[in-house]
Amino acid sequence: MNYLRLGLEDKVVLVTGGNRGIGAAIVNLLEEMGSQVAYTYRSDPNIESSALAIPADVTDPAAMVEVVDKVEQKLGPIYGVVANAGITRDNFFPKLAIDDWDTVIETNLKGIYNTLKPIVPKMYERREGSVVCISSISGERGNIGQVNYAASKAGAIGLTKSLALEGARYGVRANAVAPGFIETEMTQAIPDKVKEKITAEIPLRRFGKPEEIAWAVVFLLSPIASSYVSGTVLKVNGAHHT
Ligand code: NDP
Repeated sequence: MNYLRLGLEDKVVLVTGGNRGIGAAIVNLLEEMGSQVAYTYRSDPNIESSALAIPADVTDPAAMVEVVDKVEQKLGPIYGVVANAGITRDNFFPKLAIDDWDTVIETNLKGIYNTLKPIVPKMYERREGSVVCISSISGERGNIGQVNYAASKAGAIGLTKSLALEGARYGVRANAVAPGFIETEMTQAIPDKVKEKITAEIPLRRFGKPEEIAWAVVFLLSPIASSYVSGTVLKVNGAHHT
């Protein structure tokens, strides 16, 4: 019996911020799909993963060029890229310091530019590739205390949709995933009372798990499962819609 495959076997995929949280779940699932996976990390690598771990800060364009060179030398041409690294620096707008605006935009939005710049032109030349950017429900509908974060995540959606239009003629697809509230270190900081309030607003009545985002990413990377999907924003949020 020949079972269906997703076409990701042996494909080289780079995930930024793959050492923990959603990124680590994406790395794990891709390894289970038989992909050749590389990921970047800033603090510590994930010692449980056998994927190629490369230290790099997405805010450093030169470092991201080196990452791509290293991945291509060790694993081969990059087929898929997941721009996942991201941070929050939440505050009400009157208290939002310019540094917190800059750092979030620099990491979450310019970090995507820095990640994709050394990869996408090569994908165009090779006439294949799949780009997935991790946006957020905040980027779709805004969120109290997240003017900077929501702006960066809305920017990620505009960037992705434009790349989808540009890349189509080269056979390169680009999509975004907009997670709702997911159980990671990023949401651990939310006070319990606020978490309860948010959970009550989510029709599925719970936060999502990192693996549930990973499945959406794998679908969008797959040259078989999502071959006609480009320029879309896949909401994975328990029906917590905008
Ligand atoms: P975590 O805080 O658990 O992990 C963040 C990851 O991003 C870490 O791997 C971190 O690396 C990496 N990272 C942060 N800044 C940089 C940088 N400058 N350079 C390189 N890597 C960096 O977050 P999540 O797993 O929850 O979030 C992953 C993505 O999903 C983010 O883009 C986030 O905005 C998005 N998202 C998360 C939601 C949630 O509810 N959790 C909801 C919607 C979207 P290191 O460990 O080295 O710091």
